[in-house]
Amino acid sequence: MNKSIYAPWRTEFILGQRERGCVFCTRYRRKTDRADYILYRGKKNYIIMNLYPYNSGHLMVVCNRHIATLAGLTPAERAEMMELAAQSEVILKKRLKPQGINMGFNLGSAAGAGIKDHLHLHIVPRWVGDTNFLPALFDTRVNSVDLVTTYENLLVGFSKLR
Ligand SMILES: [Zn+2]
Repeated sequence: MNKSIYAPWRTEFILGQRERGCVFCTRYRRKTDRADYILYRGKKNYIIMNLYPYNSGHLMVVCNRHIATLAGLTPAERAEMMELAAQSEVILKKRLKPQGINMGFNLGSAAGAGIKDHLHLHIVPRWVGDTNFLPALFDTRVNSVDLVTTYENLLVGFSKLR
């Protein structure tokens, strides 16, 4: 397991690697947002929490459409993805008070993409010294207290976007 925080999008961990089909398409379609830790649905993208976070509040902006590349998005999809990234920046800063935020894409398996066929933008809040906490956070699993608490906290911010 890669414990480096300096390039947090190098390797991904997300629930559902053993699911059939695309986990992002499944979550887009089934509309069980609370159970899936979906924080927000835009017209063309949605925001979901990473269940195997690098840090508390690790989000992903996911295109609604099953598309692998940034270049493959329509201008409207790209524009909304960037807008949701900006809103995420504002909400994360307000609710979690990180000292920094990493954002990035993994395009292709050699770049560390766990789900390489469906584009998603990683957003990882950062705190000075947070590498110390990583081993513990790597053990975070579904329904852990941290995940639920952080979801409820961030949902307050994202619900105001609706
Ligand atoms: Zn998909």
